[in-house]
Amino acid sequence: MKKNILIIGTGFVSYSFLKNLKKSNFYNIFLSIDDRKKLIKFKNSSQINRFLGNFGTSNYWHSVSPTNGPKGYFNFFKNFYNINNVNSNMNLENSEMLFVPRKNFSLERAFNINVNSLNYKIINSRANQISKKKNKFEILFNDSSKIEVDNIFIGTNILDLQSIIFKNLNIPDYVVYDHIQTHLGFVKRDQILNNKLIKPILSREGYYIGYESFNDKILMLRPFHSNIKTFGLKKFQNFGKSKIEIIKEIILSLSFSKLIHAFSTRYGLFFRSKYYSVFLQERIKLKDISIERKLSNEDIMKKLSGFKSLRSNQLTSLTGYSVFGNHQIGESKMSPPKGVIIANIKSKGWLKGVHHTLLNCFDAYNNNFET
Ligand SMILES: Cc1cc2nc3c(=O)[nH]c(=O)nc-3n(C[C@H](O)[C@H](O)[C@H](O)COP(=O)(O)OP(=O)(O)OC[C@H]3O[C@@H](n4cnc5c(N)ncnc54)[C@H](O)[C@@H]3O)c2cc1C
Repeated sequence: MKKNILIIGTGFVSYSFLKNLKKSNFYNIFLSIDDRKKLIKFKNSSQINRFLGNFGTSNYWHSVSPTNGPKGYFNFFKNFYNINNVNSNMNLENSEMLFVPRKNFSLERAFNINVNSLNYKIINSRANQISKKKNKFEILFNDSSKIEVDNIFIGTNILDLQSIIFKNLNIPDYVVYDHIQTHLGFVKRDQILNNKLIKPILSREGYYIGYESFNDKILMLRPFHSNIKTFGLKKFQNFGKSKIEIIKEIILSLSFSKLIHAFSTRYGLFFRSKYYSVFLQERIKLKDISIERKLSNEDIMKKLSGFKSLRSNQLTSLTGYSVFGNHQIGESKMSPPKGVIIANIKSKGWLKGVHHTLLNCFDAYNNNFET
């Protein structure tokens, strides 16, 4: 007899899990789609937006992913972005490179899943309560409906896990981590020795650009085509903004340099410039992030220690502005209860400095319940 499984949430991780599960005939698949359409904006903070509703924050991501990862990841990466030809001389599988696709794609297309097909039983309501009843789980939804299932995959953001009530079930204690991205300052072109960080490799599908990692941080350089004295992170940094916001800002600013900046990070046409912005992205405990964060000069210097491509004394001008909220991951030493997968609780130390969404998808894709 087929088992019943419930997937909670319809973002990247749930789709990745479904991609592998749909090959299996073991299950009747129930899918809980969040009935909200709520864009959470953090007006007085440098935290970037979150979205609650179908496809979640996955609607807003900027599609940047590393090419290197654990065994099997590179094939997953190529399938996800539909990349057919890779020049093996580039050794992308083992290089510290970020890929930025030229085209946006829909979740359904990336995973080739049609949730409206007969394989799925859609529940257009969010899960409010999960209780253990003998060998089954009973789930109560916001519209007051309920179902019983054998297995549950929880694909909500870790911050939304708290809003689900668990009865007779021990959910692991977890610590929440986030990525914080800081603009450290500027470096002059002639000081940059590692060309991989500033010379993108263009391909039909998008572009690849090098980064350098050290412990839980990564270092990235981007050309800067304006006056460094008038720099403001919110003015030039498009990280965390929706595509519509970015386009609106460019049009309203009538700024040519802003246009070039957006164009070069989107399509990888890095025009040579006198100065390059130095960005650092790092893993950080969510509770250690203060609301408005600007690093002191001393802290900026410390952040660069350990990197080979750049030394702190090569920075021409220091800035220290940060944005965060890229997406949070819970980490725990404990495992979830048998029969339950919580996609965004990972083993300790899982999150590093690099963009992690596709790595998380790869994990979800490989996850399964013992049958
Ligand atoms: C502007 C922006 C740019 C980004 N760019 C990048 C990038 O370039 N590279 C990168 O790696 N990452 C990037 N990210 C992060 C990336 O978007 C997230 O890591 C990713 O979307 C997380 O996917 P997810 O499936 O875990 O969660 P989500 O996409 O948030 O999906 C979770 C789903 O669960 C639903 N849900 C919540 N509670 C319930 C409930 N009780 N019942 C049912 N459903 C529920 C939510 O509504 C949502 O649909 C970016 C994020 C932002 C905001």
